[in-house]
Amino acid sequence: MSKTTTIPGKSPDQLRRERAAAEFPAMRFQLATVKFRDRETGEPCGQIGICYVFSPSGEMYTVTLKQNKPSGCSCPDARRRGARCKHSYATEQFLTQPQAPAPAPTPTPRPAPIQRWAARTLETPEERDARITKDRELWD
Ligand SMILES: [Zn+2]
Repeated sequence: MSKTTTIPGKSPDQLRRERAAAEFPAMRFQLATVKFRDRETGEPCGQIGICYVFSPSGEMYTVTLKQNKPSGCSCPDARRRGARCKHSYATEQFLTQPQAPAPAPTPTPRPAPIQRWAARTLETPEERDARITKDRELWD
């Protein structure tokens, strides 16, 4: 235990929680399920939830989930200390935010901007032929 890295009044876990909150907007999360099969019979014998965490520095870590809560992480910090790391805290934030983990239900359809754009730029076959003829004239 090094005393030089300890900031008075803040525990290492508190610092990690703060770092997780600070880096959270730049992190990306991908939920997945890992299924296990019996080696001999090939029968499914269990599964775990995981969350891939892509850090802003380009690293990817795997946070394992227990009852939809982070329980471990593959990063060196978590493995060395055996305690919760910032990925674990960030995953918890990701899982508890309103739109996660299930995709939000589709809201009542409204005319989408892209459709209006498409309608405006769609050509009639006549317009298309006229344009192609014009293009050809320019290039011939
Ligand atoms: Zn971690």
